[in-house]
Amino acid sequence: MTRRALAGSFAFVLLSVLAVAAATLVPMQDYTVHILVQTATFAIAVFGLTVVLGLCGQINLAQAAFFGFGAYAVGLGTADLHLNFWIALAMGAAVTLVMGAFLGMTTLRLGGHYLAMVTISFQQIVTLVMVNWIPVTHGPDGVGSIQRPPGLQSSQAFLGMCVAAVALIGYLVWRLPQTPIGRAMRAVRDNELAAGVAGINVYKVKVAAFALAAVLGGIGGGLFAGGFAYVSPDQFSFAESVVFITMTLLGGVASPVGALIGTGLLIVLPESLRFLKSVPGLYLAIYGLAIILIIRYMPDGIWGFVQHRVRRWLAPPPFTAAPAELVLSPAYQGAETAAALEVRDLAKHFGGVKAVDQISFSVGRGEVHALIGPNGSGKTTTLNVLSGIYAATSGSVRLGGRDVTALPPHARTAAGLGRTFQNIRLFRSMTALENVVIGAEHPGNPLAGGHAALVERARSALAFVGLEARANEPVTGFSYGHQRLIEIARALAGNPTLLLLDEPAAGLNPTEKMELRDLLRRIAAKGLTILIIDHDMTLVTEVAARITVLNFGRRIADGGAAEVLAQPEVIAAYLGSEPDVPAFA
Ligand code: ADP
Ligand code: MG
Repeated sequence: MTRRALAGSFAFVLLSVLAVAAATLVPMQDYTVHILVQTATFAIAVFGLTVVLGLCGQINLAQAAFFGFGAYAVGLGTADLHLNFWIALAMGAAVTLVMGAFLGMTTLRLGGHYLAMVTISFQQIVTLVMVNWIPVTHGPDGVGSIQRPPGLQSSQAFLGMCVAAVALIGYLVWRLPQTPIGRAMRAVRDNELAAGVAGINVYKVKVAAFALAAVLGGIGGGLFAGGFAYVSPDQFSFAESVVFITMTLLGGVASPVGALIGTGLLIVLPESLRFLKSVPGLYLAIYGLAIILIIRYMPDGIWGFVQHRVRRWLAPPPFTAAPAELVLSPAYQGAETAAALEVRDLAKHFGGVKAVDQISFSVGRGEVHALIGPNGSGKTTTLNVLSGIYAATSGSVRLGGRDVTALPPHARTAAGLGRTFQNIRLFRSMTALENVVIGAEHPGNPLAGGHAALVERARSALAFVGLEARANEPVTGFSYGHQRLIEIARALAGNPTLLLLDEPAAGLNPTEKMELRDLLRRIAAKGLTILIIDHDMTLVTEVAARITVLNFGRRIADGGAAEVLAQPEVIAAYLGSEPDVPAFA
């Protein structure tokens, strides 16, 4: 731990202890205690949304349902079953974990709008059950005489415990982005396709985020029930789910600090406007206007706004030692004699469009092989089938002799595939270094030494493409050409056996193209196998020894570079022009 981190942790613990002591000991009116218990317990549920929406980018419009689950578990558990508070709370947390994981597993293969609809439906079902399953839930009357834990009977002692829970859970959520699973969540939020190709099991990460959010909703709800001793279905309706989301967005979706600010504001603001009650509707209008103004002028929420202004003081210190030379030593998993890549009768149809039509080719180990063809001839689709983004309609793909045709993207990355995208797909909220760390971190690239080794590996990869000096800058600040280089570094950091490059030279100026050519030669000199798509015939002939040509999804030529480019059919495919005058570009 650095000195600064140590000082920060110390300050945080001190503040937390002071807050708990103040909540327990400072004399307060009942009303104030109520507001604070509500803020603390809501904040824990909003922390859940920080994880699922802020970190992982998945919408969850059922947080009030999970909150209600936890509240009813404590309510029914302590009042009807006479269980100890903690046991009831633990049961509530377990139930919400299972419900969250189940809801996530069944719906997270669906995209954005569907996910929103399913979570709304789930929320409505839970509310209906609370209202109508009267023998168990007591229906609309709700549950009363809810018990608190022994030793925390007084409102303020209970408040102190809630504040401690906020501090502890807030700390864990705050640390989460720096853990492997938290990094994976951020990558999924920033760019799902790139996350999969970087070796992340996207579905698993989403389910984990969803389940974690549900548990935090359940814990918040359980504490809420203990705080108020009475719960009823109307407290856990869809409208409350929307309030939770608003709290998250208002404070700043990406941080537990924002969650706490948003929660406090949305609870205190309406309360403090109550004096306007004499004019009906006025307080709601002011309240609504304030929220609209904040979200309009602070799109990253209040805390995001503040953070943006203090970021330069929080920038990590520059590295003092130069990184080690990048080692590319792909461990071939297949037979020693097998080609790096073997594509057999591969097809990909989109409805009636045969984007890739029964193509076969192979790439020898250590070779640079080019895949060329006019626009729309199926090159990118081929790459997407190779990397598992699309399932093949038929045919097979072997990587180092191993059949990977049925594997999802992250498993192919573990098996030795690395790639870049035609349209740059970086993780846009992260620095260059963080992007490359995610590329380095996958099960197929075991690095001894934990996070430090990952950072070292990522710095080596950035140094290899010439950008290590700017490692800690946000990727959005880099030029287009440099962003392409960061994508290449991200792929190299994963230590692939085969590197797939989709039009790396597109959009580069002549100087940058020459730098790219030199970089490709340096990669090839390290023995890495490359399959490159590009329109720049000068670049292709300078780096690639072998070429496969596609036209209308079919392979029309395959072999040594010079001989392929001389074939009449290839020249004809380029509208009769010389191949180095790409009329199609
Ligand atoms: P290239 O990379 O060679 O320019 P593509 O592989 O991007 O070509 O596209 C090949 C063909 O497949 C085009 O006709 C394109 O419209 C079609 N295509 C690509 N992706 C999809 C998709 N997701 N859905 C439907 N058609 C697609
Ligand atoms: Mg393409």
